[in-house]
Amino acid sequence: MDTPNCDVLVVDDEIDTLFLARKILEKNNYTVKTATNGMEALGMIRKGTALPRLILLDLMMPKGDGWYVLETLKKNEELKSIKVIIFTVKSFTKDIDKAKALGADNYLTKPFRAEKLVEFVRERLKENSP
Ligand SMILES: [Mg+2]
Repeated sequence: MDTPNCDVLVVDDEIDTLFLARKILEKNNYTVKTATNGMEALGMIRKGTALPRLILLDLMMPKGDGWYVLETLKKNEELKSIKVIIFTVKSFTKDIDKAKALGADNYLTKPFRAEKLVEFVRERLKENSP
């Protein structure tokens, strides 16, 4: 993969959640890009408009849901090193297990606390520092 050009790509179709997550992360000095669905996110990554170190990924979205994005990234040799934190209202064990099986690095359920989001991101980016 080319050199990352942002810390976090937040992908969520709920605009309020998208902006809230961005605000929290930027306040903690992370550089953030956003996408409102999975196809847009993958397009940005393929074009290099967004090459994040970590993706905060909603599951339920139109035009490319989170499962599709997660599978696509983790199957790709170039892109599988990007950390993925699933970010969803889905809190069933079967969803959490499925996400882990597909290679997700962590799982944050909504509604979320700002401290938890920052903690998860910090923890994963530490492992992945350049
Ligand atoms: Mg959604």
